[in-house]
Amino acid sequence: MKFLLENNLAKLAKWLRFLGCDVKVLDGPITLEVLLRSRNRTFITTSRRWEKTLKNLGMRYLVVPREDWETQLCMILKEFGIEPDLKLNKCAYCGGDLIPVDKEKFKERIPPKAYETAYDFTYCESCDALFWKGLHYEKMVSMLEKALRRCGGG
Ligand SMILES: [Zn+2]
Repeated sequence: MKFLLENNLAKLAKWLRFLGCDVKVLDGPITLEVLLRSRNRTFITTSRRWEKTLKNLGMRYLVVPREDWETQLCMILKEFGIEPDLKLNKCAYCGGDLIPVDKEKFKERIPPKAYETAYDFTYCESCDALFWKGLHYEKMVSMLEKALRRCGGG
């Protein structure tokens, strides 16, 4: 699933990437030109202002509430039938593909404690970011579980 997100949805973008979605975030205001360039993506926006344009362009879109990434995420998972699995195969910052790496190669960049205890090190070639699973991973799992409870009710 390929998404284009309005620039006030950075937190949502991060979580969609954790779930393995291909996400582009606008780096400025919405313009017709930007939309035209990303016609193959589903546009996620908090405003109804562009609804008519999006319909005319034949673009898929979803309007989500402005605050609260948990509700936003639940709406998207429901609407597009996305499995809430933490795939962690896309860079949270730029959306690039993550490749598994050997921690030895990045030793000088990893805090000593993480070096000893963390696992599943991955690297983004597009933006040079390094990721690993450690204590924060457990936290992410529970944050996602909490968010998913929002989806339950309806
Ligand atoms: Zn990246």
